[in-house]
Amino acid sequence: MNTTKSRELLQRAVQRIPGGVNSPVRAFRSVGGDPPFIARADGAYLYDEDGNRFIDYVGSWGPMILGHNHPEVREALARALGNGTSFGAPTRLEVEMAEFLCDRLPHLEMVRMVNSGTEATMSAIRVARGATGRDKIVKVACCYHGHGDSLLVEAGSGALTFGTPSSPGVPKGLAADTLVIPYNDAAALERVLDANEDQVACFIVEPLPGNVGTLLPKPGYLEAVRKLTRKHGVVLIFDEVMSGFRVAFGGMVEISGVVPDLVTYGKIIGGGLPVGAYGGRRELMKRVSPSGPIYQAGTLSGNPLAMTAGLSLLKILDRDRGAIYLRLDALTAKLGAGVKAAAEAAGVPLTVNRQGSMFTAFFAQGPVDDDASARTCDTARFGTYFRAMLEQGVYLAPSQFETGFMSAAHSEADVEATIQAAKRAFKKVKSEK
Ligand SMILES: *Cc1c(COP(=O)(O)O)cnc(C)c1O
Repeated sequence: MNTTKSRELLQRAVQRIPGGVNSPVRAFRSVGGDPPFIARADGAYLYDEDGNRFIDYVGSWGPMILGHNHPEVREALARALGNGTSFGAPTRLEVEMAEFLCDRLPHLEMVRMVNSGTEATMSAIRVARGATGRDKIVKVACCYHGHGDSLLVEAGSGALTFGTPSSPGVPKGLAADTLVIPYNDAAALERVLDANEDQVACFIVEPLPGNVGTLLPKPGYLEAVRKLTRKHGVVLIFDEVMSGFRVAFGGMVEISGVVPDLVTYGKIIGGGLPVGAYGGRRELMKRVSPSGPIYQAGTLSGNPLAMTAGLSLLKILDRDRGAIYLRLDALTAKLGAGVKAAAEAAGVPLTVNRQGSMFTAFFAQGPVDDDASARTCDTARFGTYFRAMLEQGVYLAPSQFETGFMSAAHSEADVEATIQAAKRAFKKVKSEK
């Protein structure tokens, strides 16, 4: 594989951008090797500066559920571009987006658009704190909710990959107000809420964690969480920035039937442009400025291009709901089973977790269902596997602790080629140890 141009660009990048990247995991630090610089993408494929083609299972970290460069989204964007790029004033598009979301998702009575998942979770937490008058929040170790100060405590892939439980620059006082419990452990939530009665504003959780690799909730966990938060007057926030519109149109709220007080969205909701959203019960959302006192704002929030991309993608997903999610599920099941069988044949312990089109192959005996079990993964083996797959034209998330994403643009042949590549990669993994 020729990597001349990507290597040249990386050398230039590291001079002027920290680590050469604008988001850490892109730098391949945890898997070794250098990242290809991507020039364009279409359907299921990425093409780098050197002209290499990759079957893409990152999908821009989630948004590209229908594949890259979808013609309907692209054409909607081209039309919107003719009207100008930003007005800083209310638009019809924002009304349509809010109505569309609240109409399709019964748990949303009101919604506010922002520019990223990070903004969505920061803002939802502010609403919870503002509404309850309490400062403490409870989060789950290994759940990532963006890089907001209060949330950057024991947070998912970055923490596990880089071995830093939180970041320098997060004030101790803020971290002290963030109480961390394990995933899938309702008893731990009960203990922490009992011990901090009348002090906890919210419990924020990825109902289907994806930022430690894909973890599945144990039966009854989300129901128990709902019951406990209600009992203690604690706002329940589901962070569906990754799982929303991904595992089902209505995300994990639809799948579990558990209705939180607030939900955060990102990734798919922007159709590949920078968008986030938070919303939920009217009684909470009406406290947001200017209808209420809780301040939250954004110069480019509800941007017309971003709303256009997001709304056009969401409308396709809504229209073809049955077919799209079934196809994603079948393709991803096939990939998961094929990769698992290839690992078994090579004698490599592997645990594949999957919900719909979100999946992770953990290099561990398993089961992997919380922070502690994720830590048992053989990350050196993952690195070997990752590099062998990349070399064969398969672009996986460059960390053991990330989720893979299937898109509806992937073909059976793409999946079959990926399984064949995995067979060779597992042989390499086996021979290196
Ligand atoms: C990606 C992600 C975020 C952060 O979103 P950004 O747009 O990267 O700020 C927050 N929560 C979850 C669950 C995510 O997957």
